[in-house]
Amino acid sequence: MTSATELPGQPRTGPIGGPATPRATCVLAPNPSAMTLDGTNTWILAEPDSSLAVVVDPGPLDEGHLAKVVATAEAAGKRVALTLLTHGHPDHSAGAARFAELTGTRVRALDPALRLGGEGLGVGDVITMGGLELHVVATPGHTGDSLCFHLPADRAVLTGDTVLGRGTTVVAHPEGRLGDYLDSLRRLRSLAVDEGVTTVLPGHGPVLDDARGAVEYYLAHRAKRLAQVETAVENGHRTAAEVVAAVYADVDRALWPAAELSVRAQLDYLEGHGLI
Ligand SMILES: [Zn+2]
Repeated sequence: MTSATELPGQPRTGPIGGPATPRATCVLAPNPSAMTLDGTNTWILAEPDSSLAVVVDPGPLDEGHLAKVVATAEAAGKRVALTLLTHGHPDHSAGAARFAELTGTRVRALDPALRLGGEGLGVGDVITMGGLELHVVATPGHTGDSLCFHLPADRAVLTGDTVLGRGTTVVAHPEGRLGDYLDSLRRLRSLAVDEGVTTVLPGHGPVLDDARGAVEYYLAHRAKRLAQVETAVENGHRTAAEVVAAVYADVDRALWPAAELSVRAQLDYLEGHGLI
């Protein structure tokens, strides 16, 4: 979900889609909404001199979009050889089975229910394809099955819905847990600080050029919201809906149902830590 605040880290201006780094090209899916921002970013990854491409998040089941992903890869002289999922939300994964059929590829994901044609994805796995190297990073929190993909050669990370190009994301209680999410954000901060990652290639919204700034903004935002939720509870707001009305007054009401999931995750976290 989004908040009114723009991220630091200079989102790239202009239309979303097209080449973002030497190895990553975005094809924007036609599914814009309050939750998906401009739509889902489907990523095509390949070494510049290789004919083999990896696709991350085929997106919704939209024949026109899936065909465009294949055509975009082919126009660059690439054949899609593998499909990966950052997580199971349908705006990222609903088109995966059809896309696998179109391309004859396997689908690899953390959740066994989403896999097609063989092996899954494990934390710390290194995926190689035509010289391209991707490192699988565990980032549960938005959902239990959320992964990020580190693309060291471009000093970039594909974040799915863990970090968005605009606003902030939902911790989708009960599967998504706030403690996990904070750990995941710290893991992404380490990628920026220790591994030199600068570019965020998100699942929605524009590319970000300051990965560390973006992650620190998310950590600060979560700390601020958590303190607000704690205060709301202290002031007598008991139900998640009451807390949303008190804390998320600055957020579009269309996002309140999503905010309620995040509030439930925060209440769970505060209770678990004996803070309320
Ligand atoms: Zn999602």
